[in-house]
Amino acid sequence: MTSIAQAVSCIDGYDPDALRVDSAGAAIRACLTPVAEVETVAVREALGRVLAQEIIPPIDVPGHDNSAMDGWAVRISDLHSSGTHLLEIGKALAGKPFQGAVAPGECVRVMTGAVMPQGTDTVVVQEVCRSEAERITIPAGQKAGQNVRAAGEDLKAGVAVLHPGHPVRSADLGLIASLGIAEVQVRRRLRVAFFSTGDELSSIGAPLAPGQIYDSNRYTLHGMLSGMGVEIFDMGVVRDDPQKLEAAFTVAAAQADAIITTGGVSVGEADFVKQLMGRLGEVLFWKIAMRPGRPMAFGKISNGGNSAFLFGLPGNPVAVMVTFHQFVRDALLVLGGRTDAVAVPLLQAVSAAAIRKVAGRTEYQRGVLFEENGVRKVRVTGQQGSGVLRSMSEANCYIVLEHERGKVEAGELVNVQLLAALP
Ligand code: AMP
Ligand code: MG
Repeated sequence: MTSIAQAVSCIDGYDPDALRVDSAGAAIRACLTPVAEVETVAVREALGRVLAQEIIPPIDVPGHDNSAMDGWAVRISDLHSSGTHLLEIGKALAGKPFQGAVAPGECVRVMTGAVMPQGTDTVVVQEVCRSEAERITIPAGQKAGQNVRAAGEDLKAGVAVLHPGHPVRSADLGLIASLGIAEVQVRRRLRVAFFSTGDELSSIGAPLAPGQIYDSNRYTLHGMLSGMGVEIFDMGVVRDDPQKLEAAFTVAAAQADAIITTGGVSVGEADFVKQLMGRLGEVLFWKIAMRPGRPMAFGKISNGGNSAFLFGLPGNPVAVMVTFHQFVRDALLVLGGRTDAVAVPLLQAVSAAAIRKVAGRTEYQRGVLFEENGVRKVRVTGQQGSGVLRSMSEANCYIVLEHERGKVEAGELVNVQLLAALP
């Protein structure tokens, strides 16, 4: 097995003390191996899971050529350029086919979804026809095969339609159900353990001693992880105490696929956590050229035959969300077996005001996207400090200011990422 250090050494421009956002993402990706275990679940339970098999239709969908409209099923070879009279010999509804064959000069009344009667190939919509008892007048100008849905036009028997690595969404549930398939194989859910570190942290329900704050990061993480459909182990607050931290890491490493910690990786604190993590596995400490979220640890620690990827996020509440959204989300999707493109798309918007920014780091400012006179615009939510969680609550997007970019003038285009696309 390649080590973390080996895997990241091939990343272009890898420098742990000045790591670009794109290089950090690439470094993490280079180390990940998706979970391999598969389980079989009933169709509905597959929602949000990652498919672990090909879905190969056992039948054509639709199973027969059928009418796409209400009207009359005709033989195109009967129709004249000047209009045609045909004899209606019966009726076909969805689920109630016409028994028998249609001869020249005849037609059948059909409703949407009705199987095309034998001998017919074209449907003329009722709105353009005239009917007097069984005598149907068809106007000129009909095209062969119109208003007919061909057997297998949605799904063809034997031709794989969904592939391993595909996330099962609502449409897929319906698609799988349309094939009569009752159970599917999916990757097992990821197990993610997390805890907050810090002597200053108190938990809800306990009084705040002088200098203490309530732990908010575990709640934010709970929300983001819940949105990703992973199994969650909330391990609480762990004091800045080497023994307690070591105990927490070893418990987490024995059961989780990924461990997320917050706090303790900033310059003032890194040394003792660094030594500790170093003993338990292989962990890299990065200074990422980004704001917020500069310090971050990434690695792998093991215990009792299990190993877990470690994401040591900064302590500041906004930095936790930004680093989760930009790195951890992506990594968890890959670990869970997703093979589709996982990057969150960027939209462009006009900056409503000037934004301070220095070149040499990627910034994720919290923004409000809005429309004015048909133009998509964005403004920053008030104070942008990495501890100001309110800036996240008020935002509906990140304003992503790229590494090389300097100050933004009012009216310039900027990239934004919708928070609605993120967990
Ligand atoms: P640290 O990265 O541990 O130096 O923490 C940076 C800042 O984030 C400090 O002001 C901490 O008090 C704050 N912080 C750390 N962990 C949490 C947490 N779980 N909830 C709220 N604030 C935190
Ligand atoms: Mg701390």
